[in-house]
Amino acid sequence: MSHERNITRLDAFTYRELIKNDPIMLIPAGAVEQHGPHMPLGVDMMLSTKMAELVAENIDALVSPTVTTGYKSQQRSGGGNHIVGSFGFDAATVIGICRTFVQEFARHGFKRIAFVNGHYENYQFIYEGVDLALRDLAGRSMPQVMLLSYWDFVTEEVISRLYPDGFPGWDVEHGGVMETSLMLEYFPDLVRMERVMDLPAADLPLYDLLPVDPTLTPESGCLSSAREASAEKGRILAGSIVSGIVDALRSRFMV
Ligand code: ZN
Ligand code: MN
Repeated sequence: MSHERNITRLDAFTYRELIKNDPIMLIPAGAVEQHGPHMPLGVDMMLSTKMAELVAENIDALVSPTVTTGYKSQQRSGGGNHIVGSFGFDAATVIGICRTFVQEFARHGFKRIAFVNGHYENYQFIYEGVDLALRDLAGRSMPQVMLLSYWDFVTEEVISRLYPDGFPGWDVEHGGVMETSLMLEYFPDLVRMERVMDLPAADLPLYDLLPVDPTLTPESGCLSSAREASAEKGRILAGSIVSGIVDALRSRFMV
């Protein structure tokens, strides 16, 4: 039997056969968004999918088609949706897609579903999509759904090891050390370190302003510098992320 975990690469007959084992379905949620001059637009969709696939290998789970219609980039976490290269979908779109995925996987017979988010701004809209899907399913057999953002599983120990000069926070990690290191580890051909703009971390105000003031976003479009990124750091980060997510799924979904 195939070891392929991503159902977009499986045929329907194999998929239906695998469902009989009652696997967990992992739904990666990303975005198509600018990540500075050194990384491609697909970082969030690629990394959420990769993290989900690595988790799936450990627990015999399956991986869903990736949600690539991310919510609008916010200036204080993704540079802002005014930047050409970022695709910002309305909340209703993101909610509707997540709601449909939960409904469809429930119809396919899944009892345990987890969203693996890789785009900061998506989280509350995934939450709403799940909540509405479960409300739709009330009274019928209802799956359990876990929601998480993968960076939350990087341990404090790894953070202090990888950011000896102080951790800037996951919100300003956009296009910074974490995402760039993970990309160097898993998609090295898509990273151009010689193009990194080594600027100080963005100094953003404690409020949002609409329309945005574009001058608040660093010229790179990244909110912190990726200069210290490396594939080695990517390996350490992924190890922490994957084992943390596996533990969470085991503790909630597998007795
Ligand atoms: Zn990103
Ligand atoms: Mn993002």
